[in-house]
Amino acid sequence: MLLAHRIRLAATPVQCEYFARAAGTARRVWNWALAEWQRQIASSLRPDARALKKHFNAIKYAYPDWLDADGRPWLRAIHRDAHAQPFAHLAKAWTRYVAARKAGQSAYPPRFKKKGRCRDSFYIANDKFRVEGKSAVLPKVGRVALAEVLRFPGKIMGATVWREADHWFLVVQVEVPDETTLRRRTGHGVLGLDLGVTAAATLSTGEKIAAPRPLRSALRRLRIRSRRQSRKVQAAKTAAGISGRIPKGMRLPSSANQVKGARRLARLHARIARIRADFTHKRTTRLCRENQAVAVEDLHVKGMLANARLARSIADVGFYEIRRQLQYKARRYGTVIVLADRWYPSSKLCSACGQKNSMLALAERAWTCSCGVHHDRDMNAAMNLQRLATGALAARTALPVASPAATPGTVAGMVAAAEGEVTPVRYEHGQ
Ligand SMILES: [Zn+2]
Repeated sequence: MLLAHRIRLAATPVQCEYFARAAGTARRVWNWALAEWQRQIASSLRPDARALKKHFNAIKYAYPDWLDADGRPWLRAIHRDAHAQPFAHLAKAWTRYVAARKAGQSAYPPRFKKKGRCRDSFYIANDKFRVEGKSAVLPKVGRVALAEVLRFPGKIMGATVWREADHWFLVVQVEVPDETTLRRRTGHGVLGLDLGVTAAATLSTGEKIAAPRPLRSALRRLRIRSRRQSRKVQAAKTAAGISGRIPKGMRLPSSANQVKGARRLARLHARIARIRADFTHKRTTRLCRENQAVAVEDLHVKGMLANARLARSIADVGFYEIRRQLQYKARRYGTVIVLADRWYPSSKLCSACGQKNSMLALAERAWTCSCGVHHDRDMNAAMNLQRLATGALAARTALPVASPAATPGTVAGMVAAAEGEVTPVRYEHGQ
């Protein structure tokens, strides 16, 4: 199983400066390759990443664009992997785009990367670096201290150096042997999991998990800092005599305080991301560890239902991430993840009598069925999902060879069938 460990680098200022330049190089090469690619498509050629790379290698030490003020090729100061990998990434991005369009999904073609607007990162191949305890030896910069020891044993497949706010990280991809990735479950429950906005998760066992509290206060602080920052930008615009949009290609002069504010804001964004990641990791691990089957909604539904106001709260909880983590952790714990069909009306069915309440509005948090049972909306949905999980589990034991047919448009079709399979179920199962 391919796992990645993200380790913070305790890099010296000189090393950080190199990382920034290498990431800038990767970005610039990506943009160059993308421009070439687009140009070739426009003149109805078939672009090819390898040919493009060859072309780039021929010009990168010669063309004026890639020479510094003294006429020397500045790419020589950057390790080769940083400017070779963008071609592979670009080819992959196009392939993915074309595949998505063929499958009828909406997709955007690869875009140009803008400084400050894209992830700063660059790649290092596995034979170009090594990890030794609490340090790593990277090309061009030598030994860099790591904040922690590499967690996974196994073959190192490669690494990416990656910036978040003002820290650099080394993300090491490791092919970990199965005997170390597979874990023993501590329970064999069958669980329905309703992801929601009021409670981040409602379990069919009756438990409600709220979104982490630090997140709420951090979000308040985020609003304050964002506002301060946008006022600074606004002030700079007024000083430059611009109203409305900043013209393309123009750079506003930024004050020292603006730079400081931007860094503070970036740090806060990073902290929020960490709080969220901590929360989802702990919850998803627990759910996979304690249950043999977990049913969740294929949340495309809610994404589409969502109006702008809801979308914010949905992004806050990180629904997509919860489901993604459940899916890969399920493989480690041998848990079956049951994805409810996107049309499955988990909230509208009465979990006691099975009747469907089509009149249920999105805002109704509780309702009473005609059979007399009073339902908490989320709890009822979780119960219905649990029934799906039970049904899917029974179907699996009765028919051990049944292949989990993918529901069109769900992630399930793309997940490899391993121990913890993802079993999509259709609407009928629940009835
Ligand atoms: Zn009922």
